[in-house]
Amino acid sequence: MKHFVAMICVSMGIFVLPMMTGTGFAENLPSVTILATGGTIAGAGDSQVGSAYKSGAVTVDILLQAVPEVNKIAQIKGEQISNIGSQEMNNKIWLKLAKRINELLASDECDGVVITHGTDTMEETAYFLNLTVRSKKPVVLVGAMRSSTSMSADGPMNLYNAVSLAASQEAVGKGVMVAMNEKISGARDVTKTNTTDVATFGSPNFGSLGRVFYGKIRFYRESSRKHTFQSEFKTDALEDLPRVDIVYGYANNTRAMVDAVVTAGAKGVVHAGVGNGNPYPETMEGLADARGKGVQVIRSTRVPSGRVTLDAEVDDAKYGFVVSDSLNPQKSRILLMLALTKTSDPKEIQRMFFEY
Ligand code: GLU
Repeated sequence: MKHFVAMICVSMGIFVLPMMTGTGFAENLPSVTILATGGTIAGAGDSQVGSAYKSGAVTVDILLQAVPEVNKIAQIKGEQISNIGSQEMNNKIWLKLAKRINELLASDECDGVVITHGTDTMEETAYFLNLTVRSKKPVVLVGAMRSSTSMSADGPMNLYNAVSLAASQEAVGKGVMVAMNEKISGARDVTKTNTTDVATFGSPNFGSLGRVFYGKIRFYRESSRKHTFQSEFKTDALEDLPRVDIVYGYANNTRAMVDAVVTAGAKGVVHAGVGNGNPYPETMEGLADARGKGVQVIRSTRVPSGRVTLDAEVDDAKYGFVVSDSLNPQKSRILLMLALTKTSDPKEIQRMFFEY
């Protein structure tokens, strides 16, 4: 018997997709809620072969119409959280997402969450949620490099794989994940490595966690760092996050950018240094002065892989600097924002950078 899909759109962008198959209603399937935020997966353009398109032009219900097969693996509910290109992602949406996911996963009605998201800042949202979602249930981010109207759009298969992962028992307790182009990546390690390639996501330091191929899941490794249910960070009562800026390192640098962000009110600065997190001498003076004013300084690196190690060419103990270990600058910024909601002690913040 043919399957039958009825879509009921209700106000506030919330909808359900009830389903009946040859074996009857799919009540025994896991329940997965899709939280849509926008991005290329929801993008539309005028041409199947043009690169011009608008992110976040298509709502989650339309996206799901392209993948009716998801109704065979889960009972799907959807909510539209935002509809933006992820270059517009901000603290308010992160806090809203974390709060909503915590509410959903605390209930027996929801077994997992999928977040559709632009790829530009997907790694940042994934890591933020990895630190702020308090549940073992799977949370999976997914997007697309080609818009929904493009030839060979990658969104539908990515979405199918993401729902399979969010509905699976294997994914329980693994932390927040990104499911793109058959790879299962951990939120802490994943990064966008190419501006346009569908195989853009990689985990340069430690590799991906596993693979998802036509919905079939295989895990090969786990992150040993604390996440989700083990996290000490609570954001439910927060309206915003402390300001942290990133300053890029290069030859013949100045201290102008460090001074500017301190004057603008930054509570923390992440320096994306050269090599093992090294600053140019004048920039180093700016960072030392920032520290003197109580601004936290994280030494991270502009190098795409490797660790920033304590007290190598910079006397971190003397200046009260914290090293990022193997977190890239954009993820160091997220951990520092959350750390600053709890403490301003650099030793305590360094502990967090070694634990999360
Ligand atoms: N700027 C878009 C975004 O991040 C394009 C990237 C994408 O989704 O692939 O939303």
